[in-house]
Amino acid sequence: MARPHKCRKVELIPGITYFKPRGIPMDMLEEVKLSVDEFESLRLADYNAFSHEESAERMNISRATFGRIVEKARYKIVDALLNGKAIIIEGGNYKPSDTFEYRCRRCHRKWQFTVERRKNANCPHCEKENIT
Ligand SMILES: [Zn+2]
Repeated sequence: MARPHKCRKVELIPGITYFKPRGIPMDMLEEVKLSVDEFESLRLADYNAFSHEESAERMNISRATFGRIVEKARYKIVDALLNGKAIIIEGGNYKPSDTFEYRCRRCHRKWQFTVERRKNANCPHCEKENIT
């Protein structure tokens, strides 16, 4: 049996979890499954531009483990874009804890955070102080 993974801390669970290329019939569509912790690694390293060290610390894992997760996640995204596959974000080795749902007043996107945010914090998408 595989060694149990350390609890991976995830701060944000995206509200939109399915992405589909236009013009491909459902029965021909292949899916790439991105786990929630893999998504978090991309958000931290590639969207927020945190170093691997800082990202690993935020997820409560080693730098080496973080490096493996983010590499796998990047491969999956490129595979989906290159080969016209759908992307589904679900599951993974993360600590499911209480989540707090927010909606942006400007772009109307929904987000779930595993840490409580103050009201009017920045929307992760449009970066405006807008979430309720
Ligand atoms: Zn927004």
